[in-house]
Amino acid sequence: MEKEEKIIVLQDVVKAYDGQVAVEKMNFYVRKGEFVTLLGPSGCGKSTTLRMIAGFEMPTEGKILLNGKDITTVPPYERPINTVFQRYALFPHLNVYDNIAYGLKLKRFRNTYIDKNGKEKVKIEKLSKAVIDAKVSRVLKLVDLEEFEKRDVTTLSGGQQQRIAIARAIVNEPEILLLDEPLGALDLKMRKDMQLELKEMHQKLGITFIYVTHDQEEALTMSDTVVVMSDGVIQQIGTPKDIYNEPKNSFVADFIGESNIFSGTMVGNKKVRFINKVFDCVDDFPVNEKVDVVVRPEDIFLADEGKGMVDGVIISSIFKGVHYEMTFKVGKTEVLIQDTMERKVGERCSIHIRPDDIHIMEKEFDCNRYDGYITKRNTVCFADGEFECDVTQLYEKSHLDEEGYLVLENGEKIDLTDVDVKVEVGLKDIEIIDNEEDGDACGNIISIVYKGDHYQVIIRTDEEEEDFVVDTEYVWNENDRVSVKIPPNKIKLKLKAVNQK
Ligand code: ADP
Ligand code: MG
Repeated sequence: MEKEEKIIVLQDVVKAYDGQVAVEKMNFYVRKGEFVTLLGPSGCGKSTTLRMIAGFEMPTEGKILLNGKDITTVPPYERPINTVFQRYALFPHLNVYDNIAYGLKLKRFRNTYIDKNGKEKVKIEKLSKAVIDAKVSRVLKLVDLEEFEKRDVTTLSGGQQQRIAIARAIVNEPEILLLDEPLGALDLKMRKDMQLELKEMHQKLGITFIYVTHDQEEALTMSDTVVVMSDGVIQQIGTPKDIYNEPKNSFVADFIGESNIFSGTMVGNKKVRFINKVFDCVDDFPVNEKVDVVVRPEDIFLADEGKGMVDGVIISSIFKGVHYEMTFKVGKTEVLIQDTMERKVGERCSIHIRPDDIHIMEKEFDCNRYDGYITKRNTVCFADGEFECDVTQLYEKSHLDEEGYLVLENGEKIDLTDVDVKVEVGLKDIEIIDNEEDGDACGNIISIVYKGDHYQVIIRTDEEEEDFVVDTEYVWNENDRVSVKIPPNKIKLKLKAVNQK
């Protein structure tokens, strides 16, 4: 078997802008000839990663290797790498030929030769017109625009301009082509066509493609390997099939295609309870563990009432061309189902799920945990906020006196000011408030995931960038500015230092 060559390796690569981390300790590699896609929502650090590979940005920490050699500090023009951006960036005053030939005409190379006296000499040479012509024709053929050499680029359609941009990037015969949302500016139909063309081009050229997109369908269609990112962190690396069928966590499951994500509990060996029913599954998790259960809508089969595993009622149905997308309600939980057979709204029926279609994932957050400290006022500070709390829980059978000192059972008085504590707050115990001023800490909503009967919202504070993970039945929007409130009795405190009385 051929040895797998890693053409690009990222080792612990970090990129921070003014102390704000855009890419966190990233580790991944790209094999020679592979089509790898960085996939994730806007702002998750895809372009930053690509720009570091191209050499337009320097990593704050870590190393980038090309064919095993450290290129972290090598300037872009010395890397055998070219980039295609979403904005075509063609020269409007040049025709197609000149746009593509531009870089070739500027190219100089050193030619060493032996002169007639047997001495070694170096001559700086340009590419000949014939060589440039041949190279331009070759790439124009590759992008299917053979007859277009003399055309003014401003007369071309968006798709054609983007093909010229690609031709210009590959005419230098790079080892790696980077593509940053190259189809983002095209309409849907054009985008679909170009996806196929790019895939073909990749095969014909035989070079390595590193592609960036926020479009999961695009990533799954085109790539050999997908790197799913969120918030500067790699969530999963795998083939499109792996990513789709075995999402590693609820972020990936939610981002890749439509999914049902239920909160569940393991109740026995390969037995999981969710939507109020125990199902057999194939994943082995410890009994009593809280888990996320992912089931794809197309993996749920409908049966007549009483004939399946759980009964419920159809509450919505939309025809989607090939299949119907129906919502089935069990108790308070909604289950999304795709089926070619329609069941009418209001119909009572039953569902069936096969054990190997139930994907169990470790629950990411069962509780919010913070490091905090007690203030003079017997409140607790954590996550960029100050909260009312009950400090008497720190010592059994203690109480507060009029001056605010904690009095222990034996009468000893304790000043809690600045005492470090561990803080725990349940996901359901945090109230989100529309208004920045009215809560005790504020931040931005950075993620929302639907979990069947509720939303899981993550709020990130400004200064310390602490997260509040909140389960709520209300719908919020990404980037909403909100504040949070927590009932004092829901804030669990523990002394940090061990062996304290
Ligand atoms: P994506 O391409 O996934 O949409 P980017 O890599 O462009 O995301 O951005 C990742 C994060 O880094 C964002 O929060 C963005 O605001 C920030 N960022 C990107 N470039 C810069 C820059 N030149 N200066 C400061 N912050 C930046
Ligand atoms: Mg980007």
